[in-house]
Parts: sequence; C-alpha cells; structure tokens
Amino acid sequence: MTSAGGSIVETTIRVSATATSQAVTELLDVARTQGESVQVLEVGPTGVPELEPLVLLTEDETTAFYPDCSPGTLSDALRADDPLSAAPFTVSHDDDVTGLPVPDDGPLSVGTRRVLDGCGWLVPDDLGGYRDYASDLVVDADSLVSTVADAGLLGRGRGDARSEQPVGETWEQVAEASGDPVVVVNANEADEHARMDQLLLESVPLTVLDPAVAAAESVGASAIVVYVNETDDLARRRIQQAAVAFADESAVDVQVVAGPDEYKAGEMTMALEALEGNDRIEARRRPPGPAEHGLHGRPTLVHTPRTFAQVAALVREGSTGADEDPGTRVFTVTGDAARTATVELPTDASLSAVEAAAGTDAYKAACVGGVFGGFAPDLDVQASADALADERLGTNGIVEFLAEGRCLLAETGKRAKFAHENNCGRCVPCREGSKQLTDLLRAVYDGSYDSGKVAELVRVMESTSLCDFGVMAARPARTAMTHFESEFITHAGGSCLSGDCDADATEVTA
Ligand code: SF4
Repeated sequence: MTSAGGSIVETTIRVSATATSQAVTELLDVARTQGESVQVLEVGPTGVPELEPLVLLTEDETTAFYPDCSPGTLSDALRADDPLSAAPFTVSHDDDVTGLPVPDDGPLSVGTRRVLDGCGWLVPDDLGGYRDYASDLVVDADSLVSTVADAGLLGRGRGDARSEQPVGETWEQVAEASGDPVVVVNANEADEHARMDQLLLESVPLTVLDPAVAAAESVGASAIVVYVNETDDLARRRIQQAAVAFADESAVDVQVVAGPDEYKAGEMTMALEALEGNDRIEARRRPPGPAEHGLHGRPTLVHTPRTFAQVAALVREGSTGADEDPGTRVFTVTGDAARTATVELPTDASLSAVEAAAGTDAYKAACVGGVFGGFAPDLDVQASADALADERLGTNGIVEFLAEGRCLLAETGKRAKFAHENNCGRCVPCREGSKQLTDLLRAVYDGSYDSGKVAELVRVMESTSLCDFGVMAARPARTAMTHFESEFITHAGGSCLSGDCDADATEVTA
C-alpha cells in the first residue's frame, strides 16, 4: 500500500468511536506524528461502546486492539519496540481483510458480523474503500427486484413498511404503480435503547445508501429521502457525507431530513406525516399503503437501514440463515447487564447468544423487542421473525435484561403508561385502551387484580388498533401475565415479590 505522498504504508492506525470527542482528536493527532509510513483513519463505532475510544493498529497481517485508549497510552505504545505486543489483545488475519477482524472472545466475537462487518473498520464516507469492500456488489437494477423477491427477504424493524413481511412484493408494486416513485430510508427509531439503525448510519452509511440507490433505480425512483432522528447528529452527518460521496455515481437525488425525537414518529405512516411537515402527527389509515399512496401521494418504498443493509449482504454474499427469514438480525443488548452492545446473529441461531455480548446469564426476565417488546424468562428461542413471534416476543432488535430485583408489574405498568402518554390519539382501541390498561395495572397496587379484564383489553388492543403502535403496546401485559402472573397476584395481596416496589410504587403507577 502507498500513501498519498508515495511512500510505502506499513502500518494503519484506526480510531473508532461514536463521537468525535477531544480524546478522539488527540488520538488522531498522536497517530499522525508517525509520518507518512503510517496511515491514520477515523472510523465509526464497532457497536460496543465500552471499548471506545478504540485504537486498532494493523501491520504484518495482525491487528492490535487498544480499547478505552488514551492519547498517552497510544503514545507509549507507538514508542515501544513492538507496539503489537504492547496491546491488550491482537487478532491475526489475511493481509487483504476488508472487515473488522474479530477476536475469539468478548462482545465482538458474538454472532456473525455480516451487515456490521465494516463497522469500526471502513471509513464511513470513503467510497473507494467501500467499493473495495463490496467489490461483488454489482447492482443490476433490472435483476435486483427478482433477487430480493426470490430470496424471500423480510423487512426489518418497526419503521419498515414491510416489517417481518417479504419486501419483494412491495418493490414490484412500486415499480408498476403509476406516478413518480420515491424511496424513504426510515432511520428515526426513537426507542431509547435502540442502536441498530443508528450504528449502521454512523459507521457504514454506504452499505445503506448503495442498496437504497439500487432499489430506487430498480423501481424507477429518482429520489431518496433519509429520515433521521433530530438528536442523532453523528448519524445525520455521516449519511449526508455518504450522499455527497455518492453524488457523482448516481443520478438519484438524496435528501437527509431530521424528524422529531418521538417514539410514535418512527411508525412508518407517521414518518411520512412528519416528512410532509404536518404539525399533528397521526397514523394513516390503510389501505392504500405507501406503495400506492405514500410520501406526498407518491408510490413509496419505506425501509429501515437494517433492511437495506440486508439487501446489500444478500447481493454480496447470497442467502443465509433460516429459510423462512433469510439473512441475519441485529440486536442491541442493554438493561441490567455488564455492558450495552449491538451484535448480529444469523436467523437460525439461538437468541441466547446475546447473553455473552451483554456479559450476563443471570436475570429474571428479558424484554425482547423494545419498549413494547415481550417478556420472557429465558432467550432459548431462534432469532428469526417467526420464532420470535411464536413466543410473542418483539422482532425490533432490542433485548433488555431485567435483574432479579425488578418487579414485572412495575415494568409492565411503565410500558402501559408510555403507550398512554405517547400514542397519536387517532384510534379508540389504543388511545382509550392504553389508558384503561394503565388504570387496571395501577389498581393492582390497591389490591384489585382482574386478570380477565386485562386479558380482554389486551385482546381488543391487539386485534383492533389502527397501527402497530397499539398492537405492540399490548404485548408487555400479555407476556407478563403469561410468565410472571404470580407477581401480579402477590402484589394484589399487598407485597412485591422482588421487593422493588416499596419505594417505587408511586412513581411507577402515577
Ligand atoms: S394504534 Fe395508537 S398510535 Fe396507532 S393510530 Fe391508533 S392511537 Fe394512533
């Protein structure tokens, strides 16, 4: 490898972080003191914040990892006779490796990094580096629709218009619709624990933008709108830089628009309302769906970054995972755990693999799927959409661990209250149902637990709510009653099994 100045590059130093902090700037400065024989790259996060800032020093087919690295530590390492041996751990790999070399243990070793492969390794807006990485991603616009349809790829994430449904049908629908089609990349997740889409935009935005552009060309769309949460500054900046890098390659216009930091605004029809600038954001009635009448009435493809990254991986590497849900799924693990991390599992793997990433295997419950996920006593379930749904768990890629000391009634009450306070108000089953559910759960603290009433209310919300918000908002109560009803009954008798509520009951149920 040669540097821009023409000298031979023997060493590459990468600095990986979620934010460009003062420490990152100083690390880059220290690395640049090594002269032209050292290539210095600022890369995105790996998905494991506790490692940051992470310095990766690569030479002689080996990468040395310096986690939580200070400028002083890096300076000392670079002065050592053998900087590689001074590192906490190293990974051997081929000279032409294109993705992050992963160690044999620790959170980075969990699962299979397919769409996260370039996170922490590729320079986010370096189109040349991306083309080296994705050299096989020869996107043939004419064949892409059939490739995606034949594979049976499912949409990922609650903000996807084809969440857990085959995306190929919609692509065909949009391609055949009359009007001026448009593609929306819905990255406004706004679940406080979600890092999946944000990580992709911060670290490997080109692996989202490239397939989005290919999709646009496939369905005849001339524009892409990327919808990002207004608080996700780094994600917004990185996808904008990626769009600039791509501008010379494609005639498709890419706009990046900031949306409100509200959970409901991630629901895909409310995302369209927000993009149209409507003051009052409410879900749209369907049919017609966005494929026929989407953004400003145009035929619209709406997918999350996770879905587009799966399209790229499908074209690049072919179909993998479970037959009924090909590919991988990205999960953020959080809660009562040793660490937060975002990892990727094949859909035919057991979800329990995420325990190693979180550094915990002792917990009372896990809430799978985000704020409106399902509670489970263990994670012995396949990480595919069907298997998760069969267990009434959420598919939105968040696993929140709850320690023994957590009260499941309190956790259920918090989620009902969140639904009551954050729904859009358009339909009665969700608007009134979430209020009544909050009241019924509050009544348990006063000694009244009517399981029949709660179950019937949950059934009505699930079966008659207008959008997925209301359907999913019922899930915590349903799954808590299935697996942890003894906590409700004991609470009605005046005590909390976990001992968690004596101090917190008022706050939880207010
Ligand atoms: S389910 Fe809830 S969020 Fe969705 S339309 Fe009804 S009130 Fe609005």
